[in-house]
Amino acid sequence: MAIRNIVKEGDPVLNKACRQVTDFNERLWQLLDDMHETLKAADGAGLAAPQVGVLRALALVMTEDGSYLEIINPKIVWQEGEQTGAEGCLSIPGVYGEVTRPLKVRVEALDRFGKPFTREAEGFTARAFCHEIDHLSGHLFRELVERYIDPEKE
Ligand code: ZN
Repeated sequence: MAIRNIVKEGDPVLNKACRQVTDFNERLWQLLDDMHETLKAADGAGLAAPQVGVLRALALVMTEDGSYLEIINPKIVWQEGEQTGAEGCLSIPGVYGEVTRPLKVRVEALDRFGKPFTREAEGFTARAFCHEIDHLSGHLFRELVERYIDPEKE
């Protein structure tokens, strides 16, 4: 495993749409393992492949128990309600803003072996799913910020 460099805002790789994953092989597992290590070292809530410079539709999301769930070719298939809260991004260090997201989501994805699964989440985890899945179509949370937050003052 290796810690990969996290791409920062301004790098065009963050604004491109990812291709679907079709090969569930050693190369994919190496990428996922590296992303686990990178995310753990950065102490973040999620990491999408474009953030390590790879335009493939996969991400890691922190779930309710604090572990990182691998989601490959993920889709939000249902959502309900609304929540407004603070959000940040490892690719935009030091910037925090209020973003409105669905309160609950249901996500369909594949695991690292290509097996489909469905996961429901709410609150912070639902927010993390939305944030990471947005990365896969080239969107950053900054596009949705309603108000920037200065963590020193609030
Ligand atoms: Zn992000």
